[in-house]
Amino acid sequence: MSENLKNASNNATEKKYAVGIDLGGTAIKGGLVDNRGAVLYSASVPTEREKGAKAVAKNIAKLVKTILEKAKMTKDDVVGIGIGSPGTIDSKTGTVVYTNNLNWKNFPLADEVSALTGIRVKVANDANAAALGEYKFGAGKGAEDVVMLTLGTGVGGGVVIGGKLFEGYASAGAELGHMVIDRGGEQCTCGLRGCFETYASATALIRETKKAMLSNPQTKLWEVGLDNVCGKTPFDYMDVDESAKKVVNEYIDALTIGIINIVNIFRPQKVILGGGVCEQKKVLLPPVRKAVSERAYGGKKAPKCEVVVAKFKNRAGQIGAAALWLE
Ligand SMILES: [Zn+2]
Repeated sequence: MSENLKNASNNATEKKYAVGIDLGGTAIKGGLVDNRGAVLYSASVPTEREKGAKAVAKNIAKLVKTILEKAKMTKDDVVGIGIGSPGTIDSKTGTVVYTNNLNWKNFPLADEVSALTGIRVKVANDANAAALGEYKFGAGKGAEDVVMLTLGTGVGGGVVIGGKLFEGYASAGAELGHMVIDRGGEQCTCGLRGCFETYASATALIRETKKAMLSNPQTKLWEVGLDNVCGKTPFDYMDVDESAKKVVNEYIDALTIGIINIVNIFRPQKVILGGGVCEQKKVLLPPVRKAVSERAYGGKKAPKCEVVVAKFKNRAGQIGAAALWLE
């Protein structure tokens, strides 16, 4: 352990560290995280998923070694390694049951990484881990019941109830992005139609913006060009173009309905929004907050639920994974 960290741990006897790993399809990001949620050292390596699960586990172990070397620590200085993985995870055993993203089936990730590093390992679904990180150290701090929604390519979700991550039977739960908000609506990648994700993701914003362009040759959105449309495009034009404004308003409406459903089921103290779409928080938050306070069950007489934006951006995965070990 380096002198600085030694001094820090002398000052605060409860100081603990864990390595948090954010396992993605192209890169593995990792960080040494303390029990206040601060990332002290971080690094990344390519995932190399084409080489197979065992090779990816080796890459994770290599990354952990690099991070510990940077921190001048040994394996005995950390309480454990947390891994946030895509897919369905049996968090009791640390097995990746299924992931489309990495093309794995029943891979004992915790056991593999633990054998390579000599450190205890916990694995959780990445969206669940991110929710746990925000609950413990970020925008959810101080609340006991928190739901996080990540608005990106899809819509991920994580639920913390009574201070505990709710994962459902065999940790296969909390797929909030796949609650149906429009029966018979847009086709979802999961096989159902009308899932929340098909209206509240960045992918939905892109689809609806393109639709608006194709049905209206006059819209200013054509300045961008069909191929350059991204989730931000309708927000950029909403003040000068009616079609763009309509796309944004319908997005807000769908997001609101999904959040109201979540509030009606869980009545969390906070709903935390993360993901790229949250860069538009100035546009999104005021109408969403107003609608949730007025239209969720009980209206203004019901206990209040705050809608807030996540604290951690690129590091949410690492911090959330480390949070599996840290209080
Ligand atoms: Zn779906």
